[in-house]
Amino acid sequence: MELAILVVAAGRGSRAGPGAPKQYRLLAGKPLLAHTLSALLKAAPEAKLLPVIHSEDLASYRQSLAFLDKADLGRLLPPAYGGETRQDSVRLGLESLARQGPPEIVLIHDGARPFASPDLIARARAAARQHGAAVPGLALTDTVKQVDAAARVMATAPREAFRAVQTPQAFAFDLILAAHRKAEAAAQNGLTDDAAIAEWAGHDVYVFEGERDNVKITGAEDLARAEAELLYGLADVRTGQGFDVHAFGPGDHLWLGGVKIACDRGLVGHSDADVLSHAITDAILGAIGDGDIGSHFPPSDPQWRGAASAIFLAAALDKLRARGGVLAHIDAMLICEKPKIGPYREAIRESLAKTAGISIERLSIKATTAEGLGFIGREEGMAAMAIATVRLPLAPRAD
Ligand code: MG
Repeated sequence: MELAILVVAAGRGSRAGPGAPKQYRLLAGKPLLAHTLSALLKAAPEAKLLPVIHSEDLASYRQSLAFLDKADLGRLLPPAYGGETRQDSVRLGLESLARQGPPEIVLIHDGARPFASPDLIARARAAARQHGAAVPGLALTDTVKQVDAAARVMATAPREAFRAVQTPQAFAFDLILAAHRKAEAAAQNGLTDDAAIAEWAGHDVYVFEGERDNVKITGAEDLARAEAELLYGLADVRTGQGFDVHAFGPGDHLWLGGVKIACDRGLVGHSDADVLSHAITDAILGAIGDGDIGSHFPPSDPQWRGAASAIFLAAALDKLRARGGVLAHIDAMLICEKPKIGPYREAIRESLAKTAGISIERLSIKATTAEGLGFIGREEGMAAMAIATVRLPLAPRAD
C-alpha cells in the first residue's frame, strides 16, 4: 500500500451543540463523516482509508457507509477505535495501519473537513514524499495581535511569518508512527496536531499550500454554512408521488412504516404489505424517474414473499444516493377507518426517518378516514399516498 488516509472521527464534538456527535450530524441529508469519506475516496482513487471512530459510534458509523458509493467500500479498512485524546486516537489508528501492512505515506485528516479537493490531496502526497513531514497552511489575511489575560494588546506579530494550518497533514508513515510512539513513551500529551508531534520528535516539518474551502466544521454555525454550501450544489429539486392500496384480511397485526401495529385484522400482500412504506418507496422512485416498486421488486418473484418493506425503501434510497442526490422531505397520508393512526404516528415517523436517514422534522405522516365511503369506508382495505422531495446535483457529476 502506497498511500493511506487516516480519518480522525473519534471526538464527541460538544462545540456543535446537543445531539449526535458532529461527525454524524446530517448535512444536506447525509452525515458529515460520509461527506468527508466520499470526498477523500474520490480525491485519492488509489488510497485506502482508515477511519478512527469512537467505540460508542459503531452503529452511526455503519449507517454513514450507506451514503458512500458501493464500489468504493472496498477501500475502507475496518475502523479503529480512538482513545481519550485526538493524539491517542491518531496513534491507535497508526498502530492499526502498521498491523495491516504499513503504507509508505499516510495523510492524517479531520473527519470534520468535508471539502478536501483532489489537488490538495495530490499536493499533500507530493510534499510527504519530498519532505517526510508536511502540512497544508494558509497565509493569514488578518493582522495577528498578541494579547494578555485582559485582552490588552502586547505585540503585533509579523503575519507573513505565520501560517494557519489545516489537514490532511502528510507524513512518511514510519516517521510519524515512530514520533507518536516516542511521544506516548515520554507521556508527551497535549500536542494539538500531528505536525507538533513530528516537530517535538525533532523532524523538520514543511508547509504546502492549503485551501480556503477546506474548512473544519466545529460549531453549529459551521454546520449551517457547510449545509448551505452543499445544498447550493444540489439545486435540482424534484418531487415524486406514490400511492398504494392493500386489502384487509385475517390477522392480529399490520405493518405501517416499519412499525408493527396490533389490530383485529391484517393486511394482505406478497411482502409484509406495509402500504405506507410502499407509497413512500414509489414516491422516491418517481422523483428520480426510475420506474416503480413493482418493476424493481416484482410480486411474481418469490424472494420478496413476506419481505420487510424497509428493504424496498432502502433500495430506492440507494438509487437516489447513487445519483448524488439526497432526500429532502416526505409527506405521507394514510387513508383508513381502522386502525387509529394517532397513537402510532410518532413511532412511525421515527422508524421511517431512521430507515430513510433523514431527520424526523423532514418526515410528515398524516391520516384521514374515508367518511365511510367506498372500499376504505367499508373497511375492505386501506390506502397510503406520499410525496417525496429530493435534491439532485445541478450539473452532471464529473466522475
Ligand atoms: Mg403495496
